[in-house]
Amino acid sequence: MEGGILRTYLSEEHHRQNDLAASWMQEAGLSTRIDAAGTLIGRMEGREPGLPALLLGSHLDSVPGAGRYDGPLGVIMALEVIHRLAPHRDQLPFAVEVVAFADEEGSRFGSGLFTSYAMAGAWQQDWWEHTDDQGLTLREAFESFGLDPTRIGEAARAPEEIRGYLEAHIEQSTQLEEAGRALGVVTSIVGERCFTLTVTGEARHAGGTAYHHRRDALVGAAEMIAAVEEIGRRREVVATVGQIEAAPGAVNVIPREVVFSIDLRAPADAPREAAWEEMSARLHELAEARGLRLTVEEFLRAPAVECSAPLQKVIAAAISTTDDAGAEDPLHTYSRAGHDGVAMSEVTEIGMLFIRCTGGISHHPDEHVTAPDVALGIQAFEAGLGAGPQLKMGLADNGSGQRVQLGRLRPSPRPPDRSTSRTSRRGGRSCPRSARSRTAPPSGSGST
Ligand SMILES: [Zn+2]
Repeated sequence: MEGGILRTYLSEEHHRQNDLAASWMQEAGLSTRIDAAGTLIGRMEGREPGLPALLLGSHLDSVPGAGRYDGPLGVIMALEVIHRLAPHRDQLPFAVEVVAFADEEGSRFGSGLFTSYAMAGAWQQDWWEHTDDQGLTLREAFESFGLDPTRIGEAARAPEEIRGYLEAHIEQSTQLEEAGRALGVVTSIVGERCFTLTVTGEARHAGGTAYHHRRDALVGAAEMIAAVEEIGRRREVVATVGQIEAAPGAVNVIPREVVFSIDLRAPADAPREAAWEEMSARLHELAEARGLRLTVEEFLRAPAVECSAPLQKVIAAAISTTDDAGAEDPLHTYSRAGHDGVAMSEVTEIGMLFIRCTGGISHHPDEHVTAPDVALGIQAFEAGLGAGPQLKMGLADNGSGQRVQLGRLRPSPRPPDRSTSRTSRRGGRSCPRSARSRTAPPSGSGST
């Protein structure tokens, strides 16, 4: 399938996605607002107005050539869960908000999570000078969207007004599918380090230069790339070389210089650091053996973020109330992609529920989830919120240390087909451009 969806931050599509999702939120009885960074927020008060809020949500922006579910599914599932909680709101010891972030992917300004970092109160002033591929700065895009850059601080939420952030998201990998499960508990969100490596040798005539006189940067780089994969596999971290360029790039010239990237991810920082230490040493050895010069420049470093242990417990217990295969012992897995929870973890506890996606395919028009899997996810989410007190869910503490006897809500028997059909009704135009390469994102910022 060609094409796919493109919704970028502060674009016309951003206005349209906010308008459409706001109309669904209003239909569900939520009060809606757009915060100072462009995030759409719908709020349902608890048993009294002004209580701290449990935030449920995900993002509505997309990569170029996206499928339908990465992001929007989590927003729509949150809406459905709130819809089901609504009749019980007079018992709720917290408010519930659906948040629809707008820059998780970083497709327009080269780096993601702007909107969730704004909510976490971690906006950095140097981000204003980021530009899109038309040369428009983030500051100018804010103004043309109708937002006031001087008020960005107003998007920040105080830790005491939030009870936690819960997100349902497609897995974007195959652990669930291979285990035959629909749902999984996310233990952490990968930490990521990205590097640009430059290998320098010497350009010479391809015909006249004997092997023992060559300093071939490309053959050296090839050995390095194979070593990156070997070390990654052995140490169980994820290492990818996704970009490579050789110069001068002529058929009959030995390559003088090769520039390639490494994207290195792991569920925790310690194994990632250990893997990088070994890789770095090995790559320098390989360079030396061929008389090549190797320089390494890091352009992204984001620590791994743990999902809160109590929220993992709540999500696991909630999954166990569903009919998912093996639900009594839910699968725990880490997220190999970045998420808004990375930013939100700076202000509150985070938890994530994964939904199986077919073949692990994501960031592609073929991205797919099944309606029965989504139904199980909603059932779990609903049980997690409603069953909080029974499961010793920290979120249901009413602030005086007293657990609120909310009791488990009855799971709704009907499959929520509405969720997926809503998703498929979403607009989305064909992607007019190829994926931008990411360049020097702000430190601490990491997206998928
Ligand atoms: Zn996503």
